[in-house]
Amino acid sequence: MARKPLMAGNWKMNNTYAEAVVLAQTISNNFDKHWTDSVDVLVCPPSIDLKPVNTVFEFDHQPIQIGAQNVYWEPKGAFTGEVSVPMLKDVHCTCSIVGHSERRGYFGETNEDVNRKVRALLDGGLYAVACVGESLSVRDEGGAEEFVCAQVRAAFAGLEPEEAGKCVVAYEPIWAIGTGRTATPEQAQDMCAAIRATLADMFGAETADEMRILYGGSMNVGNVEQLLAQPDIDGGLVGGASLKADQFVQLVKACL
Ligand code: PEP
Repeated sequence: MARKPLMAGNWKMNNTYAEAVVLAQTISNNFDKHWTDSVDVLVCPPSIDLKPVNTVFEFDHQPIQIGAQNVYWEPKGAFTGEVSVPMLKDVHCTCSIVGHSERRGYFGETNEDVNRKVRALLDGGLYAVACVGESLSVRDEGGAEEFVCAQVRAAFAGLEPEEAGKCVVAYEPIWAIGTGRTATPEQAQDMCAAIRATLADMFGAETADEMRILYGGSMNVGNVEQLLAQPDIDGGLVGGASLKADQFVQLVKACL
């Protein structure tokens, strides 16, 4: 089955309000809406910028999705500093990233938290972009595949196949994020194939075959073609290069 690629930009904690609007507008100005016939495009700004960024895209009739970088699983209440699924839905988010290694590493997000967030997103009609990935020490010890596949199992535990089928996995080796050091296409492919095999074991081959697995970790215009040429890599989750409109647009075009 041919999977439609997804190119996703993770702006992380970058850009003021004005800078976010300018970046969104520059992407929009250089974007051909027909591209989304063959590639899904997602931008994940900081929560405070979701609404203005989406306003730019909607005003221009650009079919570019917006998603959050994080979400809390409770719908409302006394959870200071958190943002809920209904709030994301209200500003037209289609999804949220969950389990990014920066959230796991700096903010103590656990596999169980990731699973709760995936559940809440699906219950609210949004999908999850679930991030998994190993540290350099885990890779050097030879345990990367086991570690990453356990993260996949934990993130999607308890889902029905049709629910899992709506979700996206992003394989992001921690040692490649923001470091300029990319996994080789072979390393990325091997892990994405192992992730797909895990999904097949959990949800059946048909669902696993439908699900998109992204690569993330210093993806850029110089390495994107080789990464996308791998059979189990269905797009990218991009940090640094998504902050430059021209580079992000080129990464989208590489999926066409
Ligand atoms: C990311 O944060 O998801 C990421 C892949 O960042 P970068 O592209 O900068 O490595």
